[in-house]
Amino acid sequence: MPSDKDPTGADLTQFTQANGAVVANDENTLRGGARGPVLLADMWLLEKHAHFNRERIPERVVHAKGSGAYGTFTVTHDITAFSKASLFSAVGKETPVLLRFSQVAGEMGYADTGRDVRGFAIKFYTEEGNWDLVGNNTPIFFVRDPMKFPDFIHSQKRLPQEGWRSPTMQWDFWSLHPESVHQVLWLMGDRGTPKSYRHMNGYGSHAYSLINARGQRVWVKFHFKTNQGIANFSDDEANAMTGKDPDHHRRDLFMAIEQRDYPSWTLFIQTMTDDQVAACPFDPFDLTKVWPHGDFPLQQVGTLELNTNPGNFFVDIEQAAFAPSSLVPGISYSPDPMLQARLFAYADTHRYRLGVNNHLLRPNQPRCPMQIYHRDGLMRADDNGGAAMPYHPNSFPGPQVMPEEYEPPMPLAAGEMRRFDHRIGYDDFSQPARLLQVMKEDGRERLIQNITGHMAEVPEVIKQRQLGIFRSVDAAFAERLALSLSKAVGLAAGD
Ligand code: NDP
Repeated sequence: MPSDKDPTGADLTQFTQANGAVVANDENTLRGGARGPVLLADMWLLEKHAHFNRERIPERVVHAKGSGAYGTFTVTHDITAFSKASLFSAVGKETPVLLRFSQVAGEMGYADTGRDVRGFAIKFYTEEGNWDLVGNNTPIFFVRDPMKFPDFIHSQKRLPQEGWRSPTMQWDFWSLHPESVHQVLWLMGDRGTPKSYRHMNGYGSHAYSLINARGQRVWVKFHFKTNQGIANFSDDEANAMTGKDPDHHRRDLFMAIEQRDYPSWTLFIQTMTDDQVAACPFDPFDLTKVWPHGDFPLQQVGTLELNTNPGNFFVDIEQAAFAPSSLVPGISYSPDPMLQARLFAYADTHRYRLGVNNHLLRPNQPRCPMQIYHRDGLMRADDNGGAAMPYHPNSFPGPQVMPEEYEPPMPLAAGEMRRFDHRIGYDDFSQPARLLQVMKEDGRERLIQNITGHMAEVPEVIKQRQLGIFRSVDAAFAERLALSLSKAVGLAAGD
C-alpha cells in the first residue's frame, strides 16, 4: 500500500490549491443565495478554470502526435576508433535514453495508423550532456534544400479554405519537386503503414560526423534496426485500425512495456572518410540519398531497449524537446543543408512551444552538471545561477570553457557564395529505381495500388506530371501505374 505520508511527514491525502492551502469544498460554487449569482470571491473556482484554460500548450508544427518511453542504450561493439563520445567509451557501457515516436503531418489527436513517415527521436542522457538523434523511420527525405521545408509541410497539412487534408496538394508538391520521388516511393510502399512503432527501423537519416580522441573526423549515418522484425499494415488494415483505435501505436508501445515485453533495436553505423566523400558518385550529404550498403557496410555498435513507460504523458513525452543541435564531444554535424537548418529550427520551435528554459523540464534536463551563464527567462525553475556572476569571463569562481574540446576544422570546398541550383548535377532517379528493385513483386503491386488509391481524385495535369517523374525512374513501372490509374478512373466513371 502506498503511504499517505511523505518522508517529511506531510499528509499526502490532503487536496490543496496551487499555493498549498487546503481545498475545503470542490463540489459547490460560492453563490449569493441558493439560486443566486456566482461570486467573484470564489478564488478556488477562478483558479480551477484559469488553469484549465491554459492546459494546452502550442502543439508541434510537425510530429505533433507522439508516443514514447524511457530505456537504455548498451554498447556491444567498440567504435572508439571513430568517436571519443563517452557513451561509446566501453563495451557494456549503459546510457539512459528517451525515445519519442510520432506521426509527421497530423495534429495531436490524429490517428496513429495513417500513411505517413514516422518520427524516431532519441535523447541519450550521456555523462557529457544530452545527445539528441532526431530521426525518422526512413533513411531519406522528400527535399534536400531547407528552403523547401515549410512549403513541403504546408502541402501535407490542410487546405486553407476547407480545412481538410488534400492528396491534390501533396501530389502537386511532389510532382513539382522531382527530388522527392525516392521518399514518395518509400512512403507509398509497405513501410508507409507500419504495424506498430516497435516493428519499424529508425534512421538518423542525415550524415553526421564522429570525432575520435586524436581529433580525426569520419562521416557517419546511424541505423536502428528493429529486433521485433519489420511488420506493416496493408492500406486496408491501416484504414480499419484508424477507425477502430486511433491511438493504436501509442497503446501497443505502452502495453508491451507494461507487460515487460521490452522492444529493442540494434544500432549500426555506416562511415565515410574524406577520401570516400571525394570519390562518391553522388553527394553523400544529400538527404534524398542513402549510402549503399554494398559500398558502406553496416557496423554494429549497440542495443537500445525501451523498458520504462512515462510516469505522466504530458510531462515526459509532450514536454520532451529534441534538437539535432544537442550534440556532445565526439559527435558532430555535417554539411548536409537540411541538417544545418534543423540545427536552428528545432531548438527554436521548443523556445516558442515550451519557453526559453525548456532545458529545465524533467525529460530535457541533462543528467550531468549544467553550468551555464544563461539567466532569467520565463519559468526559470532552478536556482538561476544563485549568487554567481552572470557573465563570462569573470574574476570570481565560475565555470570555464574547455579549449581541448574544440572540434577539428571541417574542410570547405573552395567556391563562391550564391544560391546554387540544387537540382543541377543531382541524379534523383537511380536510387529510387534501385528501391523498386529491392521491393518484391507483390510489394510493387501493393505500391501501385496504394498510389492509385491516393491519386484517384488528383487533377489530370498533376497526375501526368508525376507519371513523368516515375517514367524517369522506371518506364515499365510508370506504364503499369498509368494503366492502373486509367482503370480506376474508368471504374469510377462506370465504364
Ligand atoms: P541493399 O539491397 O543493400 O539494401 C536494401 C535495403 O532496403 C534493405 O537493407 C532494407 O533496409 C531496405 N528495404 C527492404 N525492403 C524495403 C521496402 N519494401 N521499402 C523500403 N526499404 C526496404 O541496397 P542498397 O543499400 O544499395 O539500397 C538500395 C535501396 O534500398 C535504396 O535506394 C533505398 O531506397 C533502400 N534502402 C537503403 C538503405 C541504406 O541505408 N542503404 C536503408 C533502407 C532502405 P533496412 O535493412 O534498413 O531495413
